[in-house]
Amino acid sequence: MAQAKGKVYLVGAGPGDPELITLKGARLLKEAQVVVYDRLVNPRIIRECSANAELIYVGKASDKHTLPQDKINALLVRLAKKGKIVVRLKGGDPFVFGRGGEEILLLVKNKIPFEVVPGITSAIAVPSYAGIPVTHRGLTSSLGIFTGQEDPNKKDTSIAWEKISTGMGTLVFLMGVENLTNIVSTLIKYGRSKTTPCCLVQWGTLNRQKSCPGTLADIEKKVKAAGMSPPAILVVGEVVSLRDKLNWFEKKPLLGKKILVTLPAEDNSRLSAMLEQEGAECAALPLIRIKALDDYAKLDDKIKNIDDFHWLIFTSQNGVRFFQQRLKAQKKDVRVLAGIKVAAIGPKTREAVEALGITVDLQPKDFLQEGLLAALKKQNVKGRNILIVRAREARDVLPQGLEKLGAGVCVVSVYQAELRKEKVSIPAFLAGFDLVTFTSSSCVQGLFQAFSRKEIFSRKNRFKIASIGPVTSATCRKYKLKPEIEAKSYTLDGLAQAILGYYKKHKLR
Ligand code: SAH
Repeated sequence: MAQAKGKVYLVGAGPGDPELITLKGARLLKEAQVVVYDRLVNPRIIRECSANAELIYVGKASDKHTLPQDKINALLVRLAKKGKIVVRLKGGDPFVFGRGGEEILLLVKNKIPFEVVPGITSAIAVPSYAGIPVTHRGLTSSLGIFTGQEDPNKKDTSIAWEKISTGMGTLVFLMGVENLTNIVSTLIKYGRSKTTPCCLVQWGTLNRQKSCPGTLADIEKKVKAAGMSPPAILVVGEVVSLRDKLNWFEKKPLLGKKILVTLPAEDNSRLSAMLEQEGAECAALPLIRIKALDDYAKLDDKIKNIDDFHWLIFTSQNGVRFFQQRLKAQKKDVRVLAGIKVAAIGPKTREAVEALGITVDLQPKDFLQEGLLAALKKQNVKGRNILIVRAREARDVLPQGLEKLGAGVCVVSVYQAELRKEKVSIPAFLAGFDLVTFTSSSCVQGLFQAFSRKEIFSRKNRFKIASIGPVTSATCRKYKLKPEIEAKSYTLDGLAQAILGYYKKHKLR
């Protein structure tokens, strides 16, 4: 049997922001059987690999190589010879100080097929995210990218310092933090004005991005004072002055904030996505699992006699989902609801109902049981039969209130929120977060199930609490957590807005 042919794709992962990988790179990551990756590749990107892919970390810190370069080169050859489809994933662009060429040369020597997928290099993207266009009409028409690892005092330096100091508009130095003193003094020595603006940018394009602007004369002092460390890029040139006007990324209200988003296991975390758009770094903590019930006899019976009801009320998207599943199990569909009025507690529940082709007759302004009750009060429900479809753990405000109004109320649970059983084993997990979000009372309970009180209330934890609405806030307070932030509109969007508003107002940056 002919041996399957291996191939190596040398792929640039981009500078850090996980969305700055090319479409081609992202596709190949999903297809690769083996992914060989470096330290500067964002772990978020690695998560996109196929679940079956073998992941090999060959991480390089700037001073020590976990796996020596020649071993990496040989590894790629070996994998390809085994017939593997290999993605060799590198930070930024593989051919910009990435030693990609060396790896490919050995592949060529061994007649192994390869392709190169360029990446967005940090040399250009990091200045962009710091508000610095590397070229600008009227300011500079040339750009040089240099390694900062070369000691300018070395006799055989391969950088023509006397020429680049004045002969080049914008100079970008990678790997230059340790050598900053020498770089700056050599540029000045060869004639670059001391007042030339420059900027060191650390962890560019990521939530941790930090910039330190200055001039050639004072940048070194400023960098020391700010405690900057690698990985960082130094940009030198008049273009840096544009930063005053163009600095966009560092103005994001949640930049630098770490947010722990507690949620049900099957949540795809739209909340995290919204917060990350505003600069936050989010970690998801699944605390509850939405589960079907063991027994649906009661619901099945109500569906059979659905004509007895005048109103059908949904209080969550999950309720709609499980209700529909039961309809289907009984070989019925939404036509059985003809003539019955339908209410939804909030916009997402409404969307779920409408997705079934049903028009929602009533949705309150306040997305709470109290709001729904107030809205139904106006509908004259006395003597009407109402079916409430909900979670097993829900409060009884609505059914009790409706009964008081003289309605005939029937409550059926259609799913349950099961708390996480196992303890989370990382005691310091909550330390380091600026904010913890809760989108339901069961998530609050879940947190106390997963962690001990001692862990949660440890003095190391400085986090604030954001809650989706008054009911969740009340549960927080029951557990002695004080929500600083509460959504005005009780939805994920409302919560994201409230968090943004809070940090904008308090300018806690
Ligand atoms: N091939 C990469 C560069 C590899 S050399 C590219 O094209 O971007 C590694 C150096 O790149 C680091 O020492 C640092 O100077 C720079 N670098 C890479 N990612 C960076 C980031 N997110 N922020 C600041 N500098 C970064």
